Amino acid sequence: MDTIVLKFGGSSVSDNINLNIVANKIIELKKAGNNIICVVSAQGKTTDNLIKEAKELSAIPNEREMDALLSTGEQVSASKLAILLTMLGHKAISLTGWQAGIITNSDYQSSKIIDIKTERIKKELKQGKIVIITGFQGIDENENITTLGRGGSDTTAVAVAAAMNAAHCYIFSDVDGVYTADPRDVKLAHKLNSISYEEMSYISGEGAKVLHDRCVELAEKYNMPIIAASTFNNNKGTEISNNMEETTIKSIIKNDNILIVKIENLSNPYNLLKKINENKIKIGKFSVDEKTTIFTITKENRAKIEKILDKVNGNITIQAVSKISVVGSGISNHLEILKKIYECFVELQYDIFEFDISACKISVLFNKIVETKYLNNLHNLLINNIK
Ligand code: ADP
Ligand code: ASP
Ligand code: MG
Repeated sequence: MDTIVLKFGGSSVSDNINLNIVANKIIELKKAGNNIICVVSAQGKTTDNLIKEAKELSAIPNEREMDALLSTGEQVSASKLAILLTMLGHKAISLTGWQAGIITNSDYQSSKIIDIKTERIKKELKQGKIVIITGFQGIDENENITTLGRGGSDTTAVAVAAAMNAAHCYIFSDVDGVYTADPRDVKLAHKLNSISYEEMSYISGEGAKVLHDRCVELAEKYNMPIIAASTFNNNKGTEISNNMEETTIKSIIKNDNILIVKIENLSNPYNLLKKINENKIKIGKFSVDEKTTIFTITKENRAKIEKILDKVNGNITIQAVSKISVVGSGISNHLEILKKIYECFVELQYDIFEFDISACKISVLFNKIVETKYLNNLHNLLINNIK
């Protein structure tokens, strides 16, 4: 009997109607003869709403308490799903992160799983139960509740799948696979049948929501195949595994969650860097010339950076911008592809701040937010060969 892990995201468990769709999918796979472990996210916009409410109380909320608060969302969906499956005649049990033995480090809001003590999960499976685990959370060595960062339920699913030696890890969401661009923005994007861990890790790392970046790293480390598929249809999804792929452009990602911070005449840039580090703010780049210090952060860190810069002398500007990344294994060593990408960016002239090239990815940071129309034009030129 195979053990499989099924992860259902926020839109899949958003209300009672969708919970019934999820329950039927689970029952179908259970009847096919599998041991089932489910990992669920919070319902719909629950996590966003909890963050909003906490920020109304404090602009920079205490991080330990934020994790205690945010972890409640997943408890609601896990227990509701267990109630429904039991009513439908199937043995089911919900487990919180700590009940499921998920041990993390203590980096609140972005903890890493360091161990999974699987005894409880195994005990419940042995009794024939469908085990439903709250995604996105664990417990540290001092028994504090921790969370894994936004979108972290995917990572819970892959970590549990690896610890339980599962045959597959299915990530079910409102989209039936990984596309050549976000299908919400680009109607002519098409679904990929398969993609390598390396490529997927770049796609997620550049901000495509479809999979959490840590989950792809873990899947690669433990060679755990992921199938990204839809909760709402039976279409074949995208398999993310170790497969060797031809060198082509796989996906284009537009990330609008970036702020460029520019400070003129800053007297001690390295002191600032130290403070950024102490406050655990992740920066995308940091450059200093005689006059200007420039760095990028994500929008969630705006309040923290403003607090730090409050005590800094210098002319400060903070600008919301977009980054577009083109991903595909080995594309930057493929001169024809590289030439085509350059030509497209030149043809579509826009206010470019800088290019960044690495083996599997070419990223362009802009001086402003780029409209979706630009992304569609770029996708037409680069992927669909439409002028
Ligand atoms: P869940 O809440 O189930 O975890 P997410 O919202 O995190 O789901 O991820 C699914 C969403 O990812 C889709 O609705 C889609 O708009 C978005 N997305 C972004 N980039 C891509 C892509 N390249 N392929 C497929 N979906 C993408
Ligand atoms: N509920 C969390 C979030 O919204 C975790 C997840 O959905 O994966 O970020
Ligand atoms: Mg997600």
